[in-house]
This record gives sequence, C-alpha cells and structure tokens, in this order.
Amino acid sequence: MLKIGYHLSVAGSLDLAIDRAATLSSTAMQIFVSNPRGWEVKFPADHVVDDFVRKKEESGIEVVCHMPYLPNLASTNPETYKKSISALAKNIEICSSLRIPYLITHLGSHLGKGKEQGLRNVINALETAADSARDVSVLMENQAGHANCVGADLSDLLHIYENSSLSRSKRIGFCLDTCHLFAAGYDIRKKEVLDRIDDELGFEKVHSFHMNDAKFPLDSKKDRHENIGKGFIGMDGFRVLLDHSGVREKILIIETPYDTDLPDGSDQAALLRLAGHR
Ligand SMILES: [Zn+2]
Ligand SMILES: [Zn+2]
Repeated sequence: MLKIGYHLSVAGSLDLAIDRAATLSSTAMQIFVSNPRGWEVKFPADHVVDDFVRKKEESGIEVVCHMPYLPNLASTNPETYKKSISALAKNIEICSSLRIPYLITHLGSHLGKGKEQGLRNVINALETAADSARDVSVLMENQAGHANCVGADLSDLLHIYENSSLSRSKRIGFCLDTCHLFAAGYDIRKKEVLDRIDDELGFEKVHSFHMNDAKFPLDSKKDRHENIGKGFIGMDGFRVLLDHSGVREKILIIETPYDTDLPDGSDQAALLRLAGHR
C-alpha cells in the first residue's frame, strides 16, 4: 500500500489534522507543529499531545512534520542563526513527544557569504539541535535553486550527510521534492535520471518525497508547485516516478495549492491511479 497524503492544516488543534487525513482516506500526512510564518515555538498542551498520539496510532496514518519558513540553518547572521538552531531544537522536541519520526527542513541561504560557509553552518546547526533527539530524524529537503540557497544541488545534501556525525545514528536523511528537483535541472521524467540520483545520493537515505508538479519548465530555479499532471512534470513524469521502487515505497506528501480548508483529493487520486491502485 502506498503511504500517501497531503500537507494539512492543524487549524483548531493538532489532532484535527489526523481527522482531516482520515476524511481524505490518506495513509500519510504532513503538518507544521509551530507557526509556519513566525519564530515563536509553543509546546502543545498535554491533552493535545495525548489526543494526537492516540488518533495517530489508531489510524495508522504516517505523519511527517515540516519546519516553519523563517529559520535559516545556513545563515551567516549570528542572531538569525542562533534563533534558527533553537527553533529546530524545539520542533524536534515537539515531534518527539508527538511520536513523529521525521522532521523536514530546508537548508536555507548563506546570504551571499558563499556556499562553503553555508554548508558548514548547516552541519553545525544540525549537530547542535539534534544532539538530544534519539527518536526523530531530520530530513534535509532539496531546493529549487533560488539565489544563495544551499541544497539545490544534491551534492550539497550528500556533503552535509557525509560530514555529520548524525548520519551514523541515522538521525539525518533526505526528503526530495519533485518540483524542486525539476526546477533545479534534474529531469526526473526520465528513469535514467532517477537511477543516477539513486547512485549519487542513495534512495535508502530518502524517507519522504514531496510530490508536486512544476508550474515552470525544467531548470527554471522557480519554486512554484502545480497540481499533479497540470504542470511540466506531467502525468507521464509521475508515472515514471511511481514506477521506481525507490520513490513508491517512501512517504509521499502532496503540497499542491488549494483554496479550501481541505484539498479535494484529486491529486492523491491521480497518484494512486498512476501507481495502479483504484
Ligand atoms: Zn519544504
Ligand atoms: Zn516548494
């Protein structure tokens, strides 16, 4: 069975996201556990944690968490950098209490000070924040390739992995976003490109995929998601992706745009159809 679902709202209470996933017949989901556009990280109340863990266990839905957008683990601004490490540590702590095994993070921007410094900062940030987390793995997400960003080249992700002591205890890994890969120039509509990524990075270190079509052509460097089949990756591209065991067996999260409280389920249905499920 495919582990598949959407990034869902936690409006009302964290545990309501699990109800939303169940409504969509999803087998997986992604949430924010702190305000995605703020710095403040509030720990959820005990009864919310209990409700969340109970619903998660009863439903069997796989949950991953995404870091808020402001923290920048590559930052060369000392104040931002310190706040970013603290936000990561707190998000890890919340994930641990909610029994969420994976926390997905962007690697951020070196703000023009060079990629080498940015990579060093990310390695140090991960080691500092993830020091005490025994049961949560931080997944580094590849980027589309905006200016000064760290992590659009998969070699960046691998460099951090190979130079971090956390890799030995499997407390770091990768999350690959299909739209970002495509925007960064990886033509994932081709099986040989997927095989090459597997050779270079190792799909065994990838625990989740963000399944998003791309609004702009190959190598656009633009992070603009499109509904499945409506963008430049297209239905044929997603068929190739889902035919690859290195992709199909991971936790698949859809982050395509929707204006209502709940997505209409069509992108999930499209991916299930392509994977041969009804
Ligand atoms: Zn992301
Ligand atoms: Zn994106």
